[in-house]
Formats: sequence, C-alpha cells, structure tokens
Amino acid sequence: MYILIVILAGVISFFLCLYAQLKLKEAPGAWSYFLVTLLSTIFTFSYAFELASTSLEQVQFWLRIEYLALPFIPVFVLLMCFEYIGQKLKQWIHYVLFIVPIITIFMLNTNDLHHLYYISMKLSNDGPFPILELEYGPWFYVHSIFVFLCLMIAIIMLLMQLKKSQFRFRMQVLLMAMGLIIPILASCLYLNGLSPYGMDLGPVSMSITFIFHGVALLSFQMFNVAPIARDKVFESMKEGVIVINQNGALVDYNKAILKVIPMLNSHDIGKMLTDILSKERQLAEIIYDGRECDYKICVDDKITYFHISFSSIQNKKNLLLGKIITFADVTERVNMQEKLKQLASMDGLTQVLNRTFFMKKAEIIMDDLAITGGYVSVIMFDIDHFKKVNDTYGHEAGDIVLAHVTSIAKETIRETDVIGRYGGEEFIVCMPNISLHEAYEIADLIREKVFAKRTLINGKEICITSSFGISNAFIEAGDNSLLLQVLIRQADQALYEAKRNGRNRIYMYS
Ligand code: GH3
Ligand code: MG
Ligand code: MG
Repeated sequence: MYILIVILAGVISFFLCLYAQLKLKEAPGAWSYFLVTLLSTIFTFSYAFELASTSLEQVQFWLRIEYLALPFIPVFVLLMCFEYIGQKLKQWIHYVLFIVPIITIFMLNTNDLHHLYYISMKLSNDGPFPILELEYGPWFYVHSIFVFLCLMIAIIMLLMQLKKSQFRFRMQVLLMAMGLIIPILASCLYLNGLSPYGMDLGPVSMSITFIFHGVALLSFQMFNVAPIARDKVFESMKEGVIVINQNGALVDYNKAILKVIPMLNSHDIGKMLTDILSKERQLAEIIYDGRECDYKICVDDKITYFHISFSSIQNKKNLLLGKIITFADVTERVNMQEKLKQLASMDGLTQVLNRTFFMKKAEIIMDDLAITGGYVSVIMFDIDHFKKVNDTYGHEAGDIVLAHVTSIAKETIRETDVIGRYGGEEFIVCMPNISLHEAYEIADLIREKVFAKRTLINGKEICITSSFGISNAFIEAGDNSLLLQVLIRQADQALYEAKRNGRNRIYMYS
C-alpha cells in the first residue's frame, strides 16, 4: 500500500514536471520548478524501488540513486522561491548552495570507508515490508540542517513577500509556503521516530508540496504573473511617484521621488503630506490643489523641471480612495521650449527683439506704468545712408555694421529698457521711468559711440552715423489712455526731422 502511495507521488511529480516543461517556459522560477519536480520524480521512484528491495545490497543501490537527486531538491526549491519573488542571488551564493549536496553525495557513496553518513545500516523485517534501520553519522545531520535551512529560508522569503502582495498573489505565496512546511513536518516526524514503521515520509510529503504548488499554479496562475512585478515596476520607474490616501496621508512612494523630495523617508508613511512638505510650501500647494504643472527645482545651481500629474484611485463603487502623484523629469522639454521661445522672439542678425516681441514687451511696460504712473520715452534710430554701405562694401559688410550698431545700443541702454529691430536698419527702444533729458543723454551716448567706434570691414575702417527721434510722456497712475503707437509715431516724426536736418543728430518730439 505504501509503495503504491509512493509510486502515485512519483507519478504526480512527473506530471508536474511535464507541465512545467510544456507550459511554464518563460515564467520566473519555472525552470527551477521543472528541475525540482524532475529530481523529486527520480527520488520518489527510486524510493519505491528501495521499499520493494529484499536485500541490503539492493537497498544500498537504490539509496545511491535516490541521493543523486535528493540533496539538490532543497537547493532548487530555494532558488525557485528567490526567482519567484524576483530576488537575484549573487553568483558565489549559487556555488555555496551546491557544495553541501555534492559533499553529501560523496559522503554517502564513500560511507563504507568512514561511516560519517551512516554509522550503521541494517534491514529490519518487523514491518509489512523490509525497512532500513539506520544510525546516523555527523554528516547526515549537516545534510539535514542544510535541508531544513533551505526550506526555512524559502518560507521566510515567501512570507516576507506576503505583506507586499495583493490578494491574488497572497494566495499563491501562502500555498507555496504551506507546501514547504509539509516536508519539514514530515522529516520532524521521521527523525523523531514517529512515522509508522520508521518509514521515510520525505518522498510522499514532497509530492504533497508540489501538489500545493501545482494548485497555486493552476488556479492562481502562479508563474504566469509574477507577484513582484508591481513592486519592481514601481521601484524602477523613471518617474517619481507618491501615493496619498483620501485624507492626504502618505501611503507609498518610490525611489525616484527622492530627486524631488530628498528628505522623504519610510517614517513619513502615514503622515500628512502637507506636514511632510511644510518647508516646500509651493509644492504642497500644487498637490493640495491637484494642479498639473511644471515644477522647478534648483539643486547645486542645477535646474530641473518636473511635470506633476495626478490620477485618482477609486474603488469599484467609484469612491475616491486616494491619489497617485507622478513627477516626470521634463527639463529637456522645458529648456527646448525656452530656446524656441527665445529664437522666436529674437532677431537673428542683431540679437535684439524682433518687432512683434518688442511690441509685446513694450505693451507690458506701458501697462505697468498705467498702474504705477511715471515717465516713459521711446527712441527710434536709423543708420544714415546705410544703402551706401551696402552698395560700397556689400550686403555682408552691411550686416556686420548692423550687428555692431546694435551691440553698442544694447550696452548703452539701462537694464529696464527694451530694444527691438523695428525695420531694416531702424531700431526702437522703450524706456520706463525716465525723463526726456535722461533719454536724450542715452541716445546721444549711442550716437557718439556709433560715430567713434569705427567698424572694420576688410581691414578698412568705415565711419557710420545714426539719427535719433525721441518722444516722451508722463502717465498718471490709473490712466491707460496713452497708446504705445502714439509714442512710436511721435518718435518716428522726430527721427524724420533729424534726417531732414542733416543726420547724425537727435530730435525730440514736441
Ligand atoms: P537714410 O540715411 O535716409 O536712412 O538712408 P538709408 O540708405 O539708410 O535708407 P534706406 O531706407 O534708403 O535704405 C535702407 C537700406 O537698408 C536698404 C536695405 O537694402 C538695407 N537693409 C535693410 N535690412 C538689411 C539687412 O538686414 N542687411 C543689410 N546688409 N542691409 C539691409
Ligand atoms: Mg537709414
Ligand atoms: Mg531706414
């Protein structure tokens, strides 16, 4: 009867082994599961033959076959569990794990020389069939402790995973762990002489283990979806993620978020996010409002932009359970946008604002002055006889002159002023909070420098002059009736006068 049970156990192991080989090729832990069930099949059938043996020689023969498989089973069980929960073992640990089984095999096969594995071995005919009566040597205990440790570590690793897993995976992990406890219990009974007729319960108990694993595998698709996947995905995400519950308390976060909130640590879980971010008021406000935006962080002079986005977590009844807040590094995109904006707003040749953007900036100045009140001036200037420069020295030389003149103008105006290219060789400056007199002085400084700082073209100095028209007005606080266009037209008229009256001079609109 017991032999039949053992054979049945062997058949079950064999089918699980076949199943693993055919169905579970790519699943984590599946290769080890295949090896474990294969070794178990070999061991169990050999054990059946051992039970059926009638002489000590036969028993010893089958024992040797059993021991080719048995010592490696706990090793592959352990490797399977590690693989299953997604933990990588170092290469040297692999080697160490295989040393004990190899020594065990060696010890068993050379036992007659040293009796370190079995001190004595005889066949007892007290039971329904001949049973081996053994007295154990020291290495047998080393082997037993090794098996026990492997299984215990596997169980502990699985149970540690339990806390982190979802329900579906919890059942898998529990089934696996329960399966591993059975052979431990069986060997406890066997080693304490509590098993019927002193039979080794190992083979049968092992098959029960693999049935548990088989159930886990069939009903819960144990290997098809690795339970670690969520954890791993979460931790290896490039985006920083924090999870808060409906009350705003921190539930979870991943490693990547430390780039955004470096002070975050595991003690913060359960605390209110607003308290954790008490020193980061702006960020706390964005999260509180649930406002999607780009958030700027400056660490050691390095500016990084994160795009913050929110998604809500709901249960089946659509009740809000919490929020997932994602921080994606968008520095490159923001920098590119800034660059494009700058390219779109600048005149390429002269590196001053183009007309459209000058008008925008100047309007902002006018709007501000309409609130605060104050003087404003507009200077229009134009290079004299510029056509002649082009005609004489070529268009490229003309370009150099243009860049030269604008660089002089840029370094002369104040920081608050804006300068733009109004037309071909005509430029415009808008100056807030400035008297007509001060505006005149700045214009005159530009005029003088343009005249004095000769431009070198093909080794030849060329003399350039420029003409200026200035308009000026006082804006009362709260008065927004003055239009920029009016000031520009007046400056243009003054410039026209300057040209008409001999060039290289400044005229003020009156
Ligand atoms: P005025 O003293 O009356 O201003 O005479 P001007 O020759 O400077 O005026 P006009 O408007 O007759 O000629 C302006 C010239 O500027 C005509 C055009 O070819 C030249 N120009 C406009 N834009 C550019 C440019 O980007 N590069 C160069 N090289 N020349 C330009
Ligand atoms: Mg001109
Ligand atoms: Mg002109």
